[in-house]
Amino acid sequence: MDLIRRQLYLDAMGIQLWRSLAAGGGNQDEQPGQGASAGGALTLAPHAPPSPIPRLEVSQVLSTPPSATAPVAECGASEALDWDDLQASVAACRACSLCETRTQTVFGVGRRDADLMLIGEAPGADEDRLGEPFVGRAGQLLNRMLAAIGLERGQVYIANILKCRPPGNRDPKPEEAAACRAYLTRQIAGVQPRVILSLGRVSAQNLLATGEAVGRLRGRWFNYGPDAIPLMVTFHPSYLLRSPEQKALVWRDLTQVARRLRGLEGLA
Ligand code: URA
Repeated sequence: MDLIRRQLYLDAMGIQLWRSLAAGGGNQDEQPGQGASAGGALTLAPHAPPSPIPRLEVSQVLSTPPSATAPVAECGASEALDWDDLQASVAACRACSLCETRTQTVFGVGRRDADLMLIGEAPGADEDRLGEPFVGRAGQLLNRMLAAIGLERGQVYIANILKCRPPGNRDPKPEEAAACRAYLTRQIAGVQPRVILSLGRVSAQNLLATGEAVGRLRGRWFNYGPDAIPLMVTFHPSYLLRSPEQKALVWRDLTQVARRLRGLEGLA
């Protein structure tokens, strides 16, 4: 992606980047500003040092991911299912009461061999209507977040913890997440992404089987599942719509993801 388009996307996210004057305004030293100005744009932090890239926290490897413990028979996502069968199995799922209120299931979208897999919470009203994850306002912001690191929506795979909309967009109940878990496990196993980006509290707490606050999880690397897939937690785009001043932190997380995808993690 050329620099001008990237700048347009960052502007759209509400992120201003500091550029080194010495470097002639190049993009090597970009750092997001902190805090919000009156207009909602971010103020600059002209002398902020480059943020250190947190190392992968091997102590937080999940030897038994929550998904591996889900009773797969419960929701029909057996080991042998291929992708089309899995999709059909989700479409017909009646494992929890959300099947009574959904318009349709929302399986996932994107490349089945994507390097990056994004996992959100659950379909909202727009997704329930259209059958695709992240198609509402949060989805539009998500597209701009991806564009800011040079990715298009069609290059990644996007799924949710739940495949059905909770009425009124309430939080998923633990039993609903448990009933849906094996589907996501199969999706992750099928896509085999190089990196997972977990969007928001519900996603992170379910994927990492923790009750830790998302503010303490975001910006950190974890290993997911038996294949130890690097997983980064960041804030949910819906939260960013309500709290745009947090976009600078998300930009930092996205930058880490981009570096890892490019194989640069650990380099200065
Ligand atoms: N929020 C989510 O977590 N997922 C969607 O698909 C849409 C909004």
